[in-house]
Amino acid sequence: MAKTSGKSRVSLVAEREVLNRTLLNWAAVFSRDLPWRTTRDPWSVLVSEVMLQQTQVSRVQPKYLEFLNLWPTPEHLADSELSDLLVFWVGLGYPRRARNLHRAARQIRDLHSGTVPSTFSDLMELPGVGPYTARAVMVFAFEMKVGVVDTNVGRLLARWSGGALQPRTAQQLADALVSPDDPWLWNQALFDLGALVCTRKNPKCFQCPVASCCSWSGAGSDPASDSAGVTKKQSKFQGSDRQARGKLIQRLAVGPVALVEASAVMGLPDEANRSDRLVQDLYSEGLITIQDGFLLLGDSLQ
Ligand code: SF4
Repeated sequence: MAKTSGKSRVSLVAEREVLNRTLLNWAAVFSRDLPWRTTRDPWSVLVSEVMLQQTQVSRVQPKYLEFLNLWPTPEHLADSELSDLLVFWVGLGYPRRARNLHRAARQIRDLHSGTVPSTFSDLMELPGVGPYTARAVMVFAFEMKVGVVDTNVGRLLARWSGGALQPRTAQQLADALVSPDDPWLWNQALFDLGALVCTRKNPKCFQCPVASCCSWSGAGSDPASDSAGVTKKQSKFQGSDRQARGKLIQRLAVGPVALVEASAVMGLPDEANRSDRLVQDLYSEGLITIQDGFLLLGDSLQ
């Protein structure tokens, strides 16, 4: 096995028992109280993971509870209109996730008798589910012994190792370090440590429970900077296509918009080509439909 510039992965894995014990004890006291942590219902877990993909925890919390009141099972969502979900999704951003979740619900209803599957291959077949979300459902719903590498975990693994990690290496290391006794709590503990202590800027190494296993401890250049799973800086929102698309979707949640008004609604009155392209993209993605010169939310093909 290749060595990192700090601790070898072999020696890190050799410390697994100490890491597991120390971090699970820490999590028992400091772990965050989040609504999706009180359930092992696979649908609830899948919904929370999709919402958390690109939205902050604080914004997801109320929407998650509201969502499950409206669509408590995959069948409930599968039998509903995509446009209703898109209206609900306003405020969470990245509405493609909503469209994918709607398609996933229909696939679960039609191919899995309404039950969220538990295998990696079946989960990966669901629209909008990638390797991260598949593993998250496996561990947080089915308590399987797999590691999940999100931004926080990717940062931790790189700092513990003392060097940037490739995606495959980060995943292998995450899997090798999972507590065999409590994979669910172990993965949640890593999220919490990354969110509360081993933060992107100014990590609180002085109060870190696993500092003795860490190669970095805040001194010198951060090995997490170029490591797998660590979020790169987001492009500017102001003036972006994402902002313009968001304005149109938000307005369509209230009612239809005349096609000729779309550029003004998006704040692009003098950018006809760009406005046309964005409308076309939203249409191609199945997020809007066009009827009699008006734009509406939803997919006419559903
Ligand atoms: S010692 Fe510092 S850098 Fe290392 S895991 Fe703890 S908080 Fe992160």
